[in-house]
Amino acid sequence: MARPSSALHQGSCHCGAVRFTIEAEITQLMTCDCSLCAKKNALMTRVHESALTVLAGEDVLSLYEWNTRRAKHYFCSRCGIYTFHRKRALPDHYEVNVRCLDGFDASAIPVRGVDGVGMSVIEDGARPQWPGPRDAG
Ligand SMILES: [Zn+2]
Repeated sequence: MARPSSALHQGSCHCGAVRFTIEAEITQLMTCDCSLCAKKNALMTRVHESALTVLAGEDVLSLYEWNTRRAKHYFCSRCGIYTFHRKRALPDHYEVNVRCLDGFDASAIPVRGVDGVGMSVIEDGARPQWPGPRDAG
């Protein structure tokens, strides 16, 4: 069954070493105010892992992990551009940097701000109010 509103978007890093596609109907974008996303100035859309295909450059992707080390933040090791990351809270989904998508016009799509600061768990800071266990993965 075809999904007419779904579309294939081509994306790449700046130098072109990393190329990927996402199969997605992009109806909402996200920013996040965590310390990493803020410095990346990331504008993202969420896709299921089955919707993301890395066409080239898997070998030049670098992985950055911090905080709980559950989220997997990928970027091109040549040009430094953030392409996508595997979510911590939803590990079978990726957030994709929509600025990497070819010819994609983000201006008409609503943007939701995510409270990433509130989600941060700093390992060496005791946070008695954190609601869940830390040793689940
Ligand atoms: Zn690159």
